[in-house]
Amino acid sequence: MEANGEKGLDQGNMELKIFHMYPDLLNLYGDIGNVICLKKRCEWRGINVEVVDFTLNQEKDLKTGDIFFMGGGSDRGQKIVYSHLLKYKKDVNALIEDGKVFLAICGGYQFLGESYIDAEGNEIPGLGIFDYRTESEEGRLIGNIIIKNQLGLSPKTIVGFENHGGRTYHHHDPLGAVKVGRGNNGKDSSEGMVYKNCVGTYLHGPVLPKNPHLADYLILKALENKYGIKTLPELDDDLEYAAHKRVKELYCK
Ligand code: GLN
Repeated sequence: MEANGEKGLDQGNMELKIFHMYPDLLNLYGDIGNVICLKKRCEWRGINVEVVDFTLNQEKDLKTGDIFFMGGGSDRGQKIVYSHLLKYKKDVNALIEDGKVFLAICGGYQFLGESYIDAEGNEIPGLGIFDYRTESEEGRLIGNIIIKNQLGLSPKTIVGFENHGGRTYHHHDPLGAVKVGRGNNGKDSSEGMVYKNCVGTYLHGPVLPKNPHLADYLILKALENKYGIKTLPELDDDLEYAAHKRVKELYCK
């Protein structure tokens, strides 16, 4: 593989560390596939990846991470995680402010806000890094979802699957506008949230293998942070985009 562009890849000399936050407690609907996808897409380009699992009863220095992934969880899983994660609130806040890549799905996304009220009315506090709240309302928002991304990525669509009782309301930049499905709250057509290189979204699926453009966006941000890399060599994603197109044919009426 050749270096591409002024700040291209120098194969074999780069390494990214991914922290997988609570893989045993926050991991619904194939969320772990996001970590596998990030790792494989890096390795196919000759970039080494170390995946570090981070969970209860562990002390880890999060500052050494380049990419952080936190999946969705049951209300029970979210309750268990909270008291441990709270100890890392300052660190998580600092790494997001530093522009580290952080992908949070569903329950993980809810965690970055102030609180989540579960279906029984119990409050599960969040880290309060962002000022949004999530409240359960009647009925769960379940099904395939298609959004038009607001990151400027091509293709414009991001496809996924959602299953959440919580409705999140906020005024931050959304990840996208809902074309099919429900998104943040089923009302204002917004889906997810973007702040610096932190992306929160309700899209399971897992979202990244279904959306290689989003996966590469995150990888490139991490490489840019660490090595000043500006472009990535392309991979053969014909199969992924054929599936992507089929989802649109099926659900975009
Ligand atoms: N327990 C949360 C909810 O139902 C999150 C679910 C999830 O991560 N899929 O809203």
